[in-house]
Amino acid sequence: MKNMNATYLVPASVPEALAAADANRESFAYLAGGTDLMVHRQQENNTATCLIDLSALPGFDKIEVKNGKILIGAGVTLHELANAETVLRHYPLLAEAAQSIASPVIRKSATVGGNLLVENRCSFFNQSEFWREAIGLCLKCGGDVCIATGGKKACYSVFVSDLVPALICLGAKVQYAVADGMFDMPLEALYTGVGLNPLHLPAGALITQVEVPVKNGVRTWFQKLRPRKSVDFTNLTLALSFEPDNGRLKVALSGVDMGPVVFETGDLSDAFVKSVGKKCRMVENLFYPRAYRKKMVEVYLRQGLKAVGGR
Ligand SMILES: Cc1cc2nc3c(=O)[nH]c(=O)nc-3n(C[C@H](O)[C@H](O)[C@H](O)COP(=O)(O)OP(=O)(O)OC[C@H]3O[C@@H](n4cnc5c(N)ncnc54)[C@H](O)[C@@H]3O)c2cc1C
Repeated sequence: MKNMNATYLVPASVPEALAAADANRESFAYLAGGTDLMVHRQQENNTATCLIDLSALPGFDKIEVKNGKILIGAGVTLHELANAETVLRHYPLLAEAAQSIASPVIRKSATVGGNLLVENRCSFFNQSEFWREAIGLCLKCGGDVCIATGGKKACYSVFVSDLVPALICLGAKVQYAVADGMFDMPLEALYTGVGLNPLHLPAGALITQVEVPVKNGVRTWFQKLRPRKSVDFTNLTLALSFEPDNGRLKVALSGVDMGPVVFETGDLSDAFVKSVGKKCRMVENLFYPRAYRKKMVEVYLRQGLKAVGGR
């Protein structure tokens, strides 16, 4: 059993949070709702010795419309996002994605920022330290090989955020703060697609908000595959947006690869629909078998295209 004691800090501003992270750079974690992080601590997958609570940061919990964009603070809870009048009016896709996550109680604590950075998952990683040691540690927790693939030297842990595919389809940007200032990037650029280090984010960076442009006339669709309709993580999430005026389609998936998988195209042919599942690098490490999940990519894509009038 590892020593799980930690210093607990509650900064009152972004500069204070960044300074706290810098002072504890050897071992710290930002703590938002804690619905992902605290489970990893319980399983001893996260052993940071300093926790920096973000709940007192001013403006982190705001949703506002400004200059043709919806600005969503990193500390907005999934419950607030799913029920915000402005989100329901402009982007029901986001509300639907938020509403599909975890359970009502978890959504009251879970935040948007935490969802963007939710840890990749795998049946051989999301286990107690005792369980993981008993079968031999996998790559993601200090071992030499990926157990899910029978010995590959790459980690196939799965990207599982449900908000991210919806946000990518809507053209979202993520803003983050570091000591040098504030920066932003298209949301898809945040993800490396590498199971061991899934994020392109400077050390100590603090996600501050997500920006989504308000666009009229975009048709959207969302579907999530999981054993139960509540609590369970995704085994495949597919979001899509379609602009009937110019025939452009954007499809984003999670639960199928080490990062989000994204397609932008004007090609709505059968060949395109069949190619999407082939590009998803799934292995046997979630509840449903790989072959079934691959097949369901095509099924969901056909359903989505029909729903938005793209076929
Ligand atoms: C039973 C259960 C079911 C779940 N089901 C789903 C599901 O269906 N879909 C899904 O997507 N997720 C699911 N989750 C995971 C989790 O609840 C959500 O992803 C949630 O949005 C995480 O947000 P949080 O605020 O609790 O993050 P935390 O747990 O506080 O943090 C998560 C990670 O993000 C980092 N972090 C948080 N905020 C910031 C910030 N502003 N800047 C920099 N780093 C930050 C933390 O350091 C940590 O590494 C589930 C969790 C549980 C326990």
